[in-house]
Amino acid sequence: MAAADTTDLRQAMIATCRRMNETGLNQGTSGNLSVRCGAGFLVTPSSLPYERMTPDDLVPMDFGGRHTGPRRPSSEWRFHRDILAARADVDVVLHTHSVYATTLACHHRPIPAFHYMVAVAGGPDIRCAPYATFGTQELSDHALAALDGRLACLLGQHGQIALGRSLDHALWIAGEVETLARLYLQALVIGPPPVLPDAEIDRVIERIRRMSYGAAPDDDETATAG
Ligand code: 13P
Ligand code: ZN
Repeated sequence: MAAADTTDLRQAMIATCRRMNETGLNQGTSGNLSVRCGAGFLVTPSSLPYERMTPDDLVPMDFGGRHTGPRRPSSEWRFHRDILAARADVDVVLHTHSVYATTLACHHRPIPAFHYMVAVAGGPDIRCAPYATFGTQELSDHALAALDGRLACLLGQHGQIALGRSLDHALWIAGEVETLARLYLQALVIGPPPVLPDAEIDRVIERIRRMSYGAAPDDDETATAG
């Protein structure tokens, strides 16, 4: 049987990468993106500017860490592989060095439930993984632990990771994390802001789930229920 045509998926990945740069979520060749595909996944190549990227540049990988194609995979392929292997609830892993999230990560500061939108990441905080050298298994292990039960985490002295069921979902989560980081830094100017109780965050998580909050109504027919 012929391999499935992945051209549309590859094009959508490049569009998402370019969108990261256009919206200021990322700059230069930092950041990377992967999407589950067949028995493995597609990941962005290492150090190739997004504006120069073509569909053939995306790197097919399997869960054993083997890659094919003309390009070398992102240096962060380990955390892309480990997250996609461990998390059946998501199909997309997006990593950026967005400025405000990374500012907090430089101080190893998690984002507490100072604002109800923290719940979009799935819990009462957005954790910050300890620092480890980029591209290492140690960084992947730290990231996987910080993402337990969450759709996002910060990476100490490095950046953020956002997960999603689709490219748009992951991009939305990354944008929300960046906005929350910016708001949190702003709120800290007056002093440590109060934190919402866990029971309220549980209530918000349930409403987000029931309303498909954040998904365009056209994308989800349940969006009007509740
Ligand atoms: P790559 O270009 O290898 O994906 O690296 C970018 C990055 O953000 C490393 O953490
Ligand atoms: Zn990085």
